[in-house]
Amino acid sequence: MHGPLRNEYLEALGIDRWVSRNAPPEAAANIAMTRAPVPVSAPAPIRQPDVTPIIPAGDWAGLRQQVAGCTACDLCKTRTQTVFGVGNTSADWLIIGEAPGAEEDRQGEPFVGRAGQLLNAMLLAIGLPRETVFIANILKCRPPGNRDPKPEEVSRCLPFLAAQIALLKPKIMLAVGRIAAQNLLATDAPLARLRGKLHHFGEANTPLVITYHPAYLLRTPSDKRKAWEDLKFARATYSRVAGTH
Ligand code: URA
Repeated sequence: MHGPLRNEYLEALGIDRWVSRNAPPEAAANIAMTRAPVPVSAPAPIRQPDVTPIIPAGDWAGLRQQVAGCTACDLCKTRTQTVFGVGNTSADWLIIGEAPGAEEDRQGEPFVGRAGQLLNAMLLAIGLPRETVFIANILKCRPPGNRDPKPEEVSRCLPFLAAQIALLKPKIMLAVGRIAAQNLLATDAPLARLRGKLHHFGEANTPLVITYHPAYLLRTPSDKRKAWEDLKFARATYSRVAGTH
């Protein structure tokens, strides 16, 4: 994405471009793409969670049905409906959030509230319209009052995500927020330590990039610039692994 269009999305993200007064117009147009490279590290030496699908991956329709009928934890008693995930089932990109909120519980689709709108802008800023990726959550049911997921809820639900990953075979995963990052990496390290480096997930060693949750960015717009660095890092990683550049 180039020039005015990209600028529009950066604006939607609330990111001002810093352009040197002396910069030639071409440098000015590219400045947001070239600032502050994010270091690439070796895979973090942290334990991977056991998320081998205990549910046979089967096919998307079968998995969707299993999720819809799940009663493995108490969240089934308070949900309006399960939120399976949405998007292109051939996507290279898998975006992983935390859990459905009130609006997602009502509509049955992840990231449809205000945070979802910002997520859409974040994805578009790196050339990914929402419908080109697949979006899922760690939990398929809304925790009441949007509280943090409990460990037993995560352990009951994670096999569904593992099955989604096995079916999708994404080329890259982008985890948004602390809860998604910590549960995928089985760590309690703070998000600040997890972002800015390349992780890998599961047996397929899928590249995994961590960034801030859009709901957090709505509350803390000053961190949007760091999120933009993460997004550029994810895109560069994707280009490398997919051989598109
Ligand atoms: N926050 C999430 O992490 N997931 C959603 O689906 C909505 C909000």
